[in-house]
Amino acid sequence: MNKWLNNNPTRLNIFPCLLCGTANAGRLGICHACEQDLPHNLSACRRCALPLPDTHHAQLCGQCLATPPICYQAHVPYIYTTPLDALITGLKFRQQLHCAHLLGSLLAQHLQKNLRQYPECIVPVPLHPSRLRERGYNQALELARPLSRSLGIQLETNLVQRVRQTRPQTELKLASRASNLRQAFQLKQPPNYRHIAIVDDVITSGHTVNALAQAFYQQGVEKVEVWAIARAICRN
Ligand SMILES: [Zn+2]
Ligand SMILES: [Zn+2]
Repeated sequence: MNKWLNNNPTRLNIFPCLLCGTANAGRLGICHACEQDLPHNLSACRRCALPLPDTHHAQLCGQCLATPPICYQAHVPYIYTTPLDALITGLKFRQQLHCAHLLGSLLAQHLQKNLRQYPECIVPVPLHPSRLRERGYNQALELARPLSRSLGIQLETNLVQRVRQTRPQTELKLASRASNLRQAFQLKQPPNYRHIAIVDDVITSGHTVNALAQAFYQQGVEKVEVWAIARAICRN
């Protein structure tokens, strides 16, 4: 093999798969077999993406039937379990930014197959400035970049800010989560869009994205949907 080829492994796709470590990775960073084995969220609530049993023929989960969430629709192709949880925590807490390319590309593939109408822009859930300083990057923005590129949709990062430093949702009981997020987001300018997609990494209770969606609806946006890579199985 000549020097040029050795120095250009990406061109030849000879990196090992990020998950199994053996087969060739290909364009995404994981091999085809590992991609097939990912925990696909095939039978999910149309509104909140909660995984539902295969036998569940309704399009909405019980909670969404009883209290419809603010967001119009959630597109979340995977369930938050192994091996995706490790990739997502790597992206979120261990600065493994290469995972954003893989996860964003997987989400883009899913959306290309399933979206009937593209939004006018995509808005990553913002971090509070102090958390952004601490982490050094916003994982939702890192996911949104490959999405914007693959789908050709404008990435909007200057529309909304997080004005309250909220406690991590994982530290709070369900009942406290919605109030923790009240008034957490503030628009920096009027959103001149009718249709927006919010991007986050994982949807757990849905309170974060609902709080952000509410801020958009209050300013006249007509349709707000949610895109995330994975849905936590339980509402905790
Ligand atoms: Zn593999
Ligand atoms: Zn639901």
